[in-house]
Amino acid sequence: MIKLHDKYFKPFISAKEIDDVIQRLAIEIAEDVGDEIPVFVGILNGSFMVVSDFVKKYPKPCEVTFIKLASYEGVKSTEDIQRLIGLTQDLTGRTVIILEDIIDTGNTLTEVHRIFKNEEVKSLKIATLFYKPEAYKKDYKLHYVGIEIPNKFIVGFGLDYDGLGRNLPEIYQIKETQHMTNLVLFGPPGAGKGTQADFLKEKYNLIHISTGDVFRYNIKNETALGMLAKSYMDKGELVPDQVTIDMLNAEVEKNADANGFIFDGFPRTNAQAESLNELMDSKDSQINAMIALEVDDEILVERLLSRGKTSGRADDADESIIRNRIAEYYNKTAILKDFYSAQNKYFGVDGVGSIDDITVRLSTVIDEL
Ligand code: AMP
Repeated sequence: MIKLHDKYFKPFISAKEIDDVIQRLAIEIAEDVGDEIPVFVGILNGSFMVVSDFVKKYPKPCEVTFIKLASYEGVKSTEDIQRLIGLTQDLTGRTVIILEDIIDTGNTLTEVHRIFKNEEVKSLKIATLFYKPEAYKKDYKLHYVGIEIPNKFIVGFGLDYDGLGRNLPEIYQIKETQHMTNLVLFGPPGAGKGTQADFLKEKYNLIHISTGDVFRYNIKNETALGMLAKSYMDKGELVPDQVTIDMLNAEVEKNADANGFIFDGFPRTNAQAESLNELMDSKDSQINAMIALEVDDEILVERLLSRGKTSGRADDADESIIRNRIAEYYNKTAILKDFYSAQNKYFGVDGVGSIDDITVRLSTVIDEL
């Protein structure tokens, strides 16, 4: 991964792949052109690398010239194309092939066709190394296309992000989600995850998702999800994985622009941990750490019974349900310590003491990530 200005980019197309594609284009065009001596016209700035590599691979005599247009501002393609340097030689009767680094909206092509409208060239063809079919809005024919790519911003091999990245020999694609911090707050029921998450979300500007809270919200609003979850929660059992995973994914999607998340009460099973990894992957991100609050069982029971006096939670009111929740934790959830330990992402923190002291302990771990 690389960082240019404020944005992160991940490797996308290797130098070798680019080289092979340019080789293919050179052969294909040489065959079509036959005995003509073509004039290749590069569109500056972006095309300087493509043109340089292309003409070195072109197996027959050819001429090369450039025009200079300006189109991009930041990561958005602008409608407004400026002609900075136009044609500097007479191309009457010549076979002209435009060499573009990338064609996305096609706005540059409008300007190219305007430039050639009054030139009496023999033929005008367009060749481009990269092409974004989803972004292309014009009808101009593209005669030679190197690689079709998705409509995502790329840099490298002549292409820049606000001036940087042109010198990279390979192509990088913008990361969908810019550098998130994602934490799993872990521990048995009553360990203090919710209390601590309230402090940490403010301190680190993260979105707190408590699956238990989302289920309770759904129960209160008598949704279908709430009704389904209630039957399990009332017994202190886990809600089935697929239901929980779908709900969690939806909660994350609601906060697509977040700096990162504190997951509280999720994942609770191996299947949930796997699906969380997939979700993070799809956002070009990852779980940075599982931070576990470690508290003895008898203290947990005491805490939950005392919380039950005011929380109104049915599953806090009855000691046997509380003990069942703790048992579920040891049977199904505690193994996730191994899952994250294997990736060096597990951090245990003593969960007994004042709320402030525990916040300091958690912050120390997060600050060192
Ligand atoms: P909590 O508020 O985290 O103590 O969760 C309360 C109850 O919600 C649990 O006992 C489960 O029944 C249900 N629940 C919360 N999160 C999950 C999860 N990740 N997987 C399955 N069930 C969950």
